[in-house]
Amino acid sequence: MRILNLTRELYNAALQERREAWKKAGKSVTLYGQMRLLGEVKAVRPEYQGVYAQVLQETLKRLDRAFQGFFSRVKRGEKAGYPRFRGRGRWDSFTFPQVWREGNWVGPGKPLDNGKVKVPGVGHVRIKQHRPPEGTPKTLTLKRSAGCWYAVYVCEVEARPLPPSEAAAGLDLGLSRFVATSDGELVSPPRAYRKAEARLARTQRALSRKKRGSNRRRELKRQLARQHRKVANQRKDFHHKTARGLVNTYGIIVHEDLNTAGLARTRLSKGVLDAGWSSFISILSAKAASAGRRVVAVKPHYTSQICPECGGIQKKELSERVHACECGCVLDRDVAAAKVILALGLDGALGDGQRVAAPA
Ligand SMILES: [Zn+2]
Repeated sequence: MRILNLTRELYNAALQERREAWKKAGKSVTLYGQMRLLGEVKAVRPEYQGVYAQVLQETLKRLDRAFQGFFSRVKRGEKAGYPRFRGRGRWDSFTFPQVWREGNWVGPGKPLDNGKVKVPGVGHVRIKQHRPPEGTPKTLTLKRSAGCWYAVYVCEVEARPLPPSEAAAGLDLGLSRFVATSDGELVSPPRAYRKAEARLARTQRALSRKKRGSNRRRELKRQLARQHRKVANQRKDFHHKTARGLVNTYGIIVHEDLNTAGLARTRLSKGVLDAGWSSFISILSAKAASAGRRVVAVKPHYTSQICPECGGIQKKELSERVHACECGCVLDRDVAAAKVILALGLDGALGDGQRVAAPA
């Protein structure tokens, strides 16, 4: 708690300094200017001497990132909130920015055998691990959430190119089936995940029926926060596994561009998994880049209406699950769409962009 309070206080003081320098003198204060003053802070406030220097520097960097984000949003003409002072409830973590150097643990980073890490000023903290660690550890963040401390390591994965592959796949992203591939593979979210999601929805409904300020409501709110975290972790895990499988199998992966307004209108508002698509695509793209494989986005363009065999338009209602064309092509609806997406991607990436029918 002590470090949490000290870093929060430092953050607020540094923000105050930047605001005043700008208001009074029209001057902007730089990150390095503020880092140089850390020595003075320690002289005046001895309690800061007990905190790792890098933790304090990282706190100032966090503020600097907040300002950079603010300025770039202003530049782009977006709505931009000026960085804010952080109250107790709005400051829940601090970070050791370097826990590994030249093959060795440095600072307090080394995990103990019991799945915990010993942090000076905090004690033994449970390590939160969603996947087996990959790559080299980089930072360690101590986070307080719902009354407990967690330790989270961020690792850096070096690029590990896979052997080149000619295999290509199109992906159709959906709700009940998360992914359908042009090879006919259907990937659904795991049962445990769907159950957890249903539980979350029930808690949400129960919460809305409880009186404001009641004990029961507070308890439900805590439950809801826990369930949210759990669902988010399960989803992330599922995304990583699915992306890993695809990147291992295919040299080129084509998907519909999620940033296109058309897709947003027709589909993105339809379910809870939606928000997951863009995070899945960024995980997929990162894994592909690291493995030397390609991910191609194509404009969604009647992909669910075109026949992948003959290129004709085959109008379907959303409820029709089978694509059955006059040309004799009968396919699962999502698989048919994935084949069209693949064809669009291969044309865009390799061909003249005119042809619509998929390669045989
Ligand atoms: Zn057809």
